[in-house]
Amino acid sequence: MGKQAGATVVGPQVEEMRAFLNTWLIPNDTREETETLPDLAGSAQAWSQALAHVPRPRPDELPDLRRLRDDLRADVTDHASGRLDDWLARRPQTVRVGEDELRLEGPSGPVDVVLRDAVQLVLAGRWNRLKACPDCRWVFYDQSRNNTRAWCSMYANETGRACGSIAKVRRMRQAQRERAAAPGTQ
Ligand SMILES: [Zn+2]
Repeated sequence: MGKQAGATVVGPQVEEMRAFLNTWLIPNDTREETETLPDLAGSAQAWSQALAHVPRPRPDELPDLRRLRDDLRADVTDHASGRLDDWLARRPQTVRVGEDELRLEGPSGPVDVVLRDAVQLVLAGRWNRLKACPDCRWVFYDQSRNNTRAWCSMYANETGRACGSIAKVRRMRQAQRERAAAPGTQ
């Protein structure tokens, strides 16, 4: 198990994408599917805290933004990028070549900005490190060396959930039961 060091390698794009994707969530306390995007969009302050560099959507931009979020969540859940590609086919962005880097340009609305963020994560090799926990569905960023983390929050940190630890305890108890049930293996 790798250490939890290296949090600084995760750039703001990753954290904002996670915040965006986790505007749909199943909170720890209620365990009910919860949609927070409209409320977030309704508060300039909350929006700028969560998604500083994504423009706050106008009410008429909200339905598209929700569809994009749901599609990107589905891609992350499937370890895929086909839905992202479909969005880009419908809403092409422009690639410009700077001195030393590629720059993406396009319309300034929130949907286009999120699309360009997603493309940048793909280009940086980071998209496939975004994962949805198979238990609580929380989207997290896998910082493990070999990109092998499956569960959210193995060390119950900022998300307050520890599906990995819970699964580990479950596996240990199962193994104990199996040992206890198998005679003569002590
Ligand atoms: Zn989880």
